[in-house]
Amino acid sequence: MISIKGLTKRFDQLEVLKGMNVEVEKGQVIVLIGPSGSGKTTFLRCLNALEIPNDGTVSIGGSTVDFNKKVTKQELISLRRKTGMVFQNYNLFPHMTALENVMEGPTVVQKRKKSEMREKAIKLLEKVGLGDKIDYYPFQLSGGQQQRVGIARALAIEPEVMLFDEPTSALDPELVGEVLKVMKDLAEEGMTMVVVTHEMRFAQEAADKVIFMDGGYIVEEGPPREVFENPKNERTKQFLNLIQ
Ligand code: ADP
Repeated sequence: MISIKGLTKRFDQLEVLKGMNVEVEKGQVIVLIGPSGSGKTTFLRCLNALEIPNDGTVSIGGSTVDFNKKVTKQELISLRRKTGMVFQNYNLFPHMTALENVMEGPTVVQKRKKSEMREKAIKLLEKVGLGDKIDYYPFQLSGGQQQRVGIARALAIEPEVMLFDEPTSALDPELVGEVLKVMKDLAEEGMTMVVVTHEMRFAQEAADKVIFMDGGYIVEEGPPREVFENPKNERTKQFLNLIQ
């Protein structure tokens, strides 16, 4: 489903991703962990071309972009349609209701009919447990509810892969569980997911593979059990000691 080769990203002189290679099978859940500044967010943003890599190829669900070459707008659009992104701070439109937020992508970006989308958006909001809140504005919703709208909105474009960038780190502790539950349900339904998170329990329970990044490299990767209980690399051990 995802094949990343030699992914490199620089901001001016700073090389943030130093040639990453990642393969993800359909239905797998990948959890990315690592210290702050190690490049996790940049990696996610390169997957949907919110950041344009300097080098490497990104292939998602049959759309391949080779960043060594001149990239066309059409190639970027086609890549972006493969993924739905969930942001740390929800990124909802404040002047739109939950329903309007969920309908926005498909009707504006994909030019789908509003009437058609409305039904579907309601179903998505019901799926994330917000069927009774469709006409609420973001300010009328808790952080956990807003993030669940964020997930419904990302699902609305029918992505093949869902990308989550620290989806629970802005939430009060008592609201984290409801968002993780929606993510676990999605994983169980077979959604392919790449998740940046500090929620180690989620990683342990839902991930097929944990990738530990540091300094723009993949330092270690493997099933959660292996990486958490028997880390091989000294840097992984240090990081896990700090957060556990
Ligand atoms: P992480 O998600 O692991 O905390 P990031 O991907 O956010 O790491 O950041 C990796 C490095 O890239 C950091 O040193 C950060 O300051 C830098 N960086 C991220 N985005 C930008 C940007 N738009 N311009 C310049 N530097 C950036």
